Order: sequence, then C-alpha cells, then structure tokens
Amino acid sequence: MGSITLKQVTKSFDEVNVIKPLDLEIRDGEFIVFVGPSGCGKSTLLRMIAGLEDTTSGNIEIDGQDATSTPPAKRGLAMVFQSYALYPHMSVRNNIAFPLKRAKVPPAEIEEKIASAARILNLGDYLDRKPGQLSGGQRQRVAIGRAIVRQPSAFLFDEPLSNLDASLRVNMRLEISELHKSLKTTMIYVTHDQVEAMTMADRIAVFNGGVIEQVGTPLELYQYPVNRFVAGFIGSPK
Ligand code: ADP
Ligand code: MG
Repeated sequence: MGSITLKQVTKSFDEVNVIKPLDLEIRDGEFIVFVGPSGCGKSTLLRMIAGLEDTTSGNIEIDGQDATSTPPAKRGLAMVFQSYALYPHMSVRNNIAFPLKRAKVPPAEIEEKIASAARILNLGDYLDRKPGQLSGGQRQRVAIGRAIVRQPSAFLFDEPLSNLDASLRVNMRLEISELHKSLKTTMIYVTHDQVEAMTMADRIAVFNGGVIEQVGTPLELYQYPVNRFVAGFIGSPK
C-alpha cells in the first residue's frame, strides 16, 4: 500500500504562498518525480507529505485515510535526504538499526533486516565502519538502507544524488531504479535535474513557482508539453 492524495494543499511562510492550492494523486507503486527549478517548492511539498512541515490548508491522504495531522513517525513513509542525515558517531549497522530499536523491533528481527538491506545495497563490507570512513555514494546507500528496513509504504527522496559526482550519480540512479523494480514500493523523487527525471520516472510533475504545470509520463511531457515552461524545462522543441 502506498497511495498518497493531495487535496488543495497550500503552504505559506510569512504570508508568502510557497505552494498554491495543489491537487495530486500519487498511485501505489509508482515512481513519481517532482522536478522544477530551485525555490519552486519541491522540498516544502515533500516535507509536508512526510509530516515534517504542517500544511497551511488542504488535506493529505495516505492509502485513503486522512493523514494531514498524523505525526511523521506514524505515516509509514521514509525520507532520504541529500545530506544523508546519518549519525556520525554510530557504525553503519547502528545507523540502520536505530529507527528499529526505537520502534522496539526484536533484536533478532533487526539483525535479519540489516542483513537483507546489506545484501540489496552491497553494504556488507562496511557495516562496522562509521559514516566518516565512507564515500558519498556509500553514505547514501546507508541512508537508503535505513529507509528500507522500515518497510515504508512510500520512499521520499529529496535530491539524494546532488552531493555526488557525475559518474557516481549515474550509477546510483540505476541502483535506485533497480530498487524500485524489486520492491515495487511508491517512490517520490525530488530533483532539479531534467535527465534524472526523464530517465527514472513513471510520471513527472513539473513544478514552477508553487504550482504543478503538468503531470505525465516522460514521453507525454516531451511530446505534448502544455506550455513553454514545460517544453523548455523538459527540453523538447516546442
Ligand atoms: P525547492 O526545494 O524547490 O528548491 P523549497 O521548497 O526549498 O524549494 O522552497 C520554496 C520556497 O519556500 C523558497 O522561496 C524558500 O525560500 C521558501 N522557504 C522554504 N522553507 C522556508 C522556511 N522554513 N521559512 C521561510 N521560507 C521558506
Ligand atoms: Mg529543495
């Protein structure tokens, strides 16, 4: 399960409307990319879906249930940040185990989950290292591992690859796409990178100044952009 419905969701900071009334249905199991220039409200919307930011108005439903006021830990979602957000003093193993221990998952089950995430993400060789002893790509794998073990109904990625160099970014892009194919869990992926959007998405929502200009498959946006902004952003000739 992992459908998310946004109904007339808005956000203002100090009277400035950062998200204008916005409706969007995210389907269970889809890989949807939020793309748009810096400052257009992508992170703010993702944080509202995660519950890290209140909505100013409107409703958020998760699997058909109103979740507008549900605390983040009870939404069943897992967020992966650009900055990894790992605990520097803890080993990789303990970073991954931390949310599970807090949720009082039995130790044997925690071990199983860590082993499974380590297999999926090739973390086996560095489970006992600290984040400072890892490369950027390895750290991001750990952050994804920490999300996987919680078996969320959706993953929320906020520009997870922006801190990585170009060649690593391409590899990680493929890894995340493979992960989606094998887990079949809903993924919402925020980026300002058109290529990332076009290569990873089932559907793309193109943001501009707090509104979604268009939602569609990469091919639909490329072939039938609704306006010049979408055409320019996606890179089609219109
Ligand atoms: P994006 O992720 O698309 O780059 P953001 O969602 O981070 O954009 O920001 C959208 C707008 O909201 C920006 O103008 C930003 O300055 C503003 N904003 C974001 N967070 C806050 C905040 N906590 N207080 C005030 N303004 C904010
Ligand atoms: Mg952002």
